[in-house]
Amino acid sequence: MTQEILHKEVVIIGSGPAGLTAAIYAARADLKPLVIEGPQPGGQLTITTEVENYPGFAEGIQGPELMEQFRAQAARFGTEFLVSWIDKVDLSERPFTLHTAEGTVKAETLIIASGASAKWLGIPGEAPAPHGLGGLGVSACATCDGFFFKGKKIVVVGGGDTAMEEATFLTRYASSVTVVHRRDHLRASKIMQDKAMKNEKIDFIWNTDVLEIIGTPESGVTSVRLYNNVTHEETTFDCEGVFIAIGHKPNTDMFKGWLEMDDIGYLKTNGHSMATNVPGVFACGDAQDSFYRQAITAAGTGCMAAIDAERYLDNLPVPTLTGEEVTIEGEIVTADHETIIMPDGEVISNHADGEAAPAGD
Ligand code: NDP
Repeated sequence: MTQEILHKEVVIIGSGPAGLTAAIYAARADLKPLVIEGPQPGGQLTITTEVENYPGFAEGIQGPELMEQFRAQAARFGTEFLVSWIDKVDLSERPFTLHTAEGTVKAETLIIASGASAKWLGIPGEAPAPHGLGGLGVSACATCDGFFFKGKKIVVVGGGDTAMEEATFLTRYASSVTVVHRRDHLRASKIMQDKAMKNEKIDFIWNTDVLEIIGTPESGVTSVRLYNNVTHEETTFDCEGVFIAIGHKPNTDMFKGWLEMDDIGYLKTNGHSMATNVPGVFACGDAQDSFYRQAITAAGTGCMAAIDAERYLDNLPVPTLTGEEVTIEGEIVTADHETIIMPDGEVISNHADGEAAPAGD
């Protein structure tokens, strides 16, 4: 048996905006949370440059500096940090068990803020500078970086809703946007396709793979090398920016079999709370949000998850995926709020006087 190294009221997996906001709230509630940081401490913002849309920074702030501020704020209230890789988890009972290389960590409540990673093509020129042109004209986030491409000619790679959304958004700034897609038809929903196709600034190159992003640290991106997979022809296409929009992968593999997730791997949470299907386990940020994926929304859901965990530890009812509410002691409040099912199975009224509510109440 591996050695238990820590036993905490609140363990947070992930140290991006969601995880560190959860930590700030849990720490200020005197729960002495532990944040387990994975291979990319600080999350996706640590590989961006200027962040101009995070409220509170009128002049903008560098992504890594913003995350240092989050971290210092969490540490100030007593958050502990552990840099470790979690091999597997056991969520069958509380305290939950996290197996790491250093030993096991026990968690009375668990907040999953493990984030998501943009998928990349793995082609030359794509890696973050200085190894490639990432940050010098290559990006995977139009909302974050589109502003820097005013009047420029841009390529968007992909054929799904993300690619259509990014292409449409980028026409606000770019002189033209060319979508390069590997097949002859799009995966995107009809409404998103129609909007992109009607946009005069967007055109399409079909049946084409991007083989390489070309440029220098001085010039930034200057072109892409393309391969038509029907004609087998190779061409060079001039552009000043490349947005890779081939999807995201939430970092949730270790929770397969324990937590409900969609086909892509985004964790399912209750609409009214950040509770997952396992009472005491909460999810926030990009690990559960496939739609907004912004630092500020991740921070918001991190706050919500911490408040949910606090309530749960205080033995207050917390909504679950089914609409029922559960307490840490195992009481279940039914979704209609009419009855409480006690841990021993006894069913009692949820009305203050013990009587069923009169009709129409
Ligand atoms: P998708 O998986 O739907 O689409 C990915 C696209 O990238 C596909 O066209 C795919 O090509 C292409 N692709 C994948 N890998 C490669 C590769 N190695 N080389 C070249 N092309 C590649 O991901 P999205 O991020 O677009 O969407 C994910 C989910 O989020 C969807 O459910 C979508 O509906 C939703 N979403 C909704 C939005 C909205 O409604 N506003 C906005 C954004 C996303 P191929 O088609 O050949 O497989």
